[in-house]
Amino acid sequence: PSPVEVYLQKHEVTATGGDVPAPFMTFEDTGFPPEILREIHVAGFTSPTPIQAQTWPIALQNRDIVAIAKTGSGKTLGYLIPAFVHLKRRRNNPQNGPTVLVLAPTRELATQIQDEALKFGRASRVSCTCLYGGAPKVHQLKELERGADIVVATPGRLNDILEMKRIDFRQVSLLVLDEADRMLDMGFEPQIRKIVNEIPPQRQTLMYTATWPKEVRKIAGDLLRNPVQVNIGNVDQ
Ligand code: ADP
Ligand code: MG
Repeated sequence: PSPVEVYLQKHEVTATGGDVPAPFMTFEDTGFPPEILREIHVAGFTSPTPIQAQTWPIALQNRDIVAIAKTGSGKTLGYLIPAFVHLKRRRNNPQNGPTVLVLAPTRELATQIQDEALKFGRASRVSCTCLYGGAPKVHQLKELERGADIVVATPGRLNDILEMKRIDFRQVSLLVLDEADRMLDMGFEPQIRKIVNEIPPQRQTLMYTATWPKEVRKIAGDLLRNPVQVNIGNVDQ
């Protein structure tokens, strides 16, 4: 077997969806811009996690992905670093609205994602703001008005702000659904669908989930276009 085959078997990585590129087994393989590699080096990481290794080359091809992996597998940087590359390619003005939208189930998770985006995106000058419920809107709206490349939001609060017409989705070209299974468990499906309806259809969509029940399969089928499905380890169907 080839080194790639050995790697995939060892880490229980499977990817289906046609013409799947080989994983980036090392950070050198990624070809990420030096300012991004520097932040990774500063963090002390020695190699990509298996989900990063297999999803990064697919994401860089602008393809949709549904990734099924347990928590703690490094999914956040799995989508944030391709998002930084995406931002570098687009060079949109954040004053005209976000380019990347990340949906996450809870305030805690959303702020963790924002922290990671600001930390690893610092040298790339990425701006990121957070929208979540259980806190007054006024401060969040003020931050949003200053402009952000990446908006991380819980579906309820984002849908409220969308209905108030206080966010412009016209530049959004990368959509991430993090912990999709938990968002559905929490009853956010109607808000997710209303939000996604307002995003231009020419977008890339990345979906992450720890489990793969039929509700998640259904929404993946509705929101993703020819996705590559990446599994790490055994997944309960
Ligand atoms: P998940 O979203 O899959 O639960 P996270 O993205 O929260 O996982 O990552 C879990 C932890 O692993 C975080 O502390 C993160 O900074 C760290 N991490 C991410 N990528 C790597 C890597 N390549 N090497 C070592 N640690 C990493
Ligand atoms: Mg996560």
